[in-house]
Amino acid sequence: MKRVAVLGSTGSIGTSSLEVLSALSDRLTLVGATAHSRWQQLAEQTQQFAPRVAVVSDESLQGEVEAASFHSETQLKFGRDAITELASAEDVDIVVTAIVGAAGLQGTWAAVEAGKTIGLANKETLIVAGPLICDLAKKTGSQFLPVDSEHSAIFQAMQSGKTAEVKRIILTASGGPFRGWSREQLDSATPEDALRHPTWDMGPKITIDSATLMNKALEVIEAKWLFDLDVSQIEVVVHPQSLVHSIVEFSDGSCLAQLSPPDMKLPIQYALTWPDRFDGPSPKMDWTSTWSLDFAPPDRDLFPALDLGFEVARRGGSCGAVLNAANEVAVSRFLGGDLKFREIPQACREILDAHNFDPDPTLTDLTRLDQWAREETSRWTSSPST
Ligand code: NAD
Ligand code: MG
Repeated sequence: MKRVAVLGSTGSIGTSSLEVLSALSDRLTLVGATAHSRWQQLAEQTQQFAPRVAVVSDESLQGEVEAASFHSETQLKFGRDAITELASAEDVDIVVTAIVGAAGLQGTWAAVEAGKTIGLANKETLIVAGPLICDLAKKTGSQFLPVDSEHSAIFQAMQSGKTAEVKRIILTASGGPFRGWSREQLDSATPEDALRHPTWDMGPKITIDSATLMNKALEVIEAKWLFDLDVSQIEVVVHPQSLVHSIVEFSDGSCLAQLSPPDMKLPIQYALTWPDRFDGPSPKMDWTSTWSLDFAPPDRDLFPALDLGFEVARRGGSCGAVLNAANEVAVSRFLGGDLKFREIPQACREILDAHNFDPDPTLTDLTRLDQWAREETSRWTSSPST
């Protein structure tokens, strides 16, 4: 029995993780779950899984939360420190990091410090603090198992050869809801348009990141750290069907890909049961239907976020923390009707260029830069010339 903690259990990845736990209840058990504000949903989850602990991280809700709605055997806790405590608890084997944004860093850090196996969904952790957290993992023996579908695909395909035989990896991107749109159309793209993802059903932040291709940009950085690759070994291809989740090309030219319907339960399950495979709740390919698989290069002019990702992956240092924070704020301003769609990468570019580059920042430096970039992006306006 593997003992699992799910940080961010009420989100898209969190609820899919619980579906996997429910389907594989003879192998996986829930020790603890956390939610930021949706405590009613968290309470319902405790009624189904009876975990030892449930955490509501937004402490301001303490007066409102009805403790009686939680399972009688579940201890209810509040605040960010309770996330840290759960992530490092002795009775936890695997921590699924399904909190969105840089807010997920603290819990992931605690889990790595405690030497846990990490089912890594919160890619922002690697964007903000890739080198520091990878160093920490080496010291504590903590292992990252990717939950992100592309990185899970690469992890699976890589098991067919030796690391030294990997020539390059090709990350697939659906292209998002705006694939094929013109510059003029993009200028008037609304949050509703951007939230209408053609193939994946995800939380709002990553859905907007998919529309700008910032998600793929972040995944380039994520892949660099997860697989210890040179940035020149990472490529991106648009594959609108989202069936091929990524490809590894080996030195002899053989390309190995992983295919499955676009559903996160499979990569989540693989991270939770690796190195074994079991029948589970993920939908399966129907090979009696006619399928076609298309691949095309991304439009880097219309979607400049992608190049930002490659640049940040190359420069490293403080760039990831600044890009991530600027993007989080720009996405939230776009969702609030305060920025236009194409201003998201524009704001990120300008904040990135304006920051004081630090090639070797500490965690404290990164926290300070994250805060700086958030403040700058909150008051950013596009200059009339652009
Ligand atoms: P979501 O918005 O659906 O859920 C976010 C979860 O984080 C919720 O449980 C929420 O309570 C919690 N949360 C939000 N703010 C918090 C805060 N300040 N402190 C503590 N907890 C907080 O997000 P999601 O789509 O499930 O994405 C989660 C992570 O997984 C992201 O890092 C995303 O990039 C990654 N990811 C998601 C998908 C997907 O299919 N949704 C795929 C690959 C990777
Ligand atoms: Mg992905």
